[in-house]
Amino acid sequence: METGHFSLLIKPSGADCNLRCAYCFYLKKSALYPGSALHRMSGDCLEKCIASYMQTEQRVYSFGWQGGEPSLMGLGFFQQAVTLQQQYGRSGAVISNGFQTNGTMLSGSLAEFFTQYKFLVGLSLDGPEHIHNRYRRTIGGRGSFKNAMGGIKTLRRRQGEFNILTLVSEANVHHAGEVYDFLRNEDLRYHQYIPCVEFDSQGKRQPWAITGEDWGRFLLELFSRWYPRDIRRVSIRLFDSILNYLVYGQHNVCSMGNSCDHYFLVEHTGDIYPCDFFVDSELKLGNIQTDSWQTLRASPAYGEFAARKQILHTPCSDCELCTYCGGDCPKYRTRDGRSFLCEGWKLFYAETLPVFRDLAKQLTAQPHT
Ligand code: SF4
Ligand code: SF4
Ligand code: SF4
Repeated sequence: METGHFSLLIKPSGADCNLRCAYCFYLKKSALYPGSALHRMSGDCLEKCIASYMQTEQRVYSFGWQGGEPSLMGLGFFQQAVTLQQQYGRSGAVISNGFQTNGTMLSGSLAEFFTQYKFLVGLSLDGPEHIHNRYRRTIGGRGSFKNAMGGIKTLRRRQGEFNILTLVSEANVHHAGEVYDFLRNEDLRYHQYIPCVEFDSQGKRQPWAITGEDWGRFLLELFSRWYPRDIRRVSIRLFDSILNYLVYGQHNVCSMGNSCDHYFLVEHTGDIYPCDFFVDSELKLGNIQTDSWQTLRASPAYGEFAARKQILHTPCSDCELCTYCGGDCPKYRTRDGRSFLCEGWKLFYAETLPVFRDLAKQLTAQPHT
């Protein structure tokens, strides 16, 4: 079935979570599904989702499990998911599973399962305890740091593969060096930093959100820690993506690209949305029980959403950084279409782009072994 390549980001427990991080943008999405305190994907819905996706032609069948907190579903649900992937996958199908978690509820058996089936786990950690606990708290208001570190220990004991996802908020944006050194000293080598850009209904920046300039300075400090000693030791997703683009001409971070049609988000009911950042009733594209992937891919609403990324604010179309920044993620754009982080991107790239170009040259010149 011709649908083009896309992956799935599945939220089997909707927005349900055991934490109440102050900056969380997803918790409030449970209001889209009133009437029940618990939001759980049914076995039928899971089967329909996997079976129909496995019938499409993909180079890699890529499943991302996310929430809320997806480990609320328990081990049995993910065992069933893997069984269905194998049952409906053609022989030789390449299947990948990613699992994004706050790490506080990871049982040994779930970690063992992740290792057995090569799930790549992303675990959220915002830095050392006093930083992490500022916003990442339990329902009762306690910091979640110790439990998140417990999750890391559990994964390590089972030799699981994982990376660290750090939300860059007002808690840590002025402490890039401290955050980076902390992760490095804990021997955490795969980092992903995401800017916290959130506004209230009046368009006012939320107190935990960062400014563009803050973001630029954060990235510069990170770069100054990473570049002299850790190029081969620590992987930072944004830096990898810049190098990947310079060497292979391909972005591996969607905000740097030029369209938003790489994946679908599947909510626990089977409802489909175009992106994690745009789960809104007016952007609901359909439901996997009633709509085929082909129809969803071809729907005008999806096409319009995907193309939004290319509608650039005038300075972006003339900006020499546009091939790297792509005018940024539409979520970060202000009403006039300019990225709220623009100033930061300019600060960061002005200083680092020549160095990345040199690095890319060195990488290209290295003989393959
Ligand atoms: S752990 Fe993730 S989903 Fe849960 S409240 Fe925090 S940010 Fe939201
Ligand atoms: S809206 Fe942003 S996060 Fe979503 S697909 Fe587009 S660039 Fe990526
Ligand atoms: S750096 Fe600023 S002006 Fe340039 S493409 Fe990015 S958002 Fe647009």
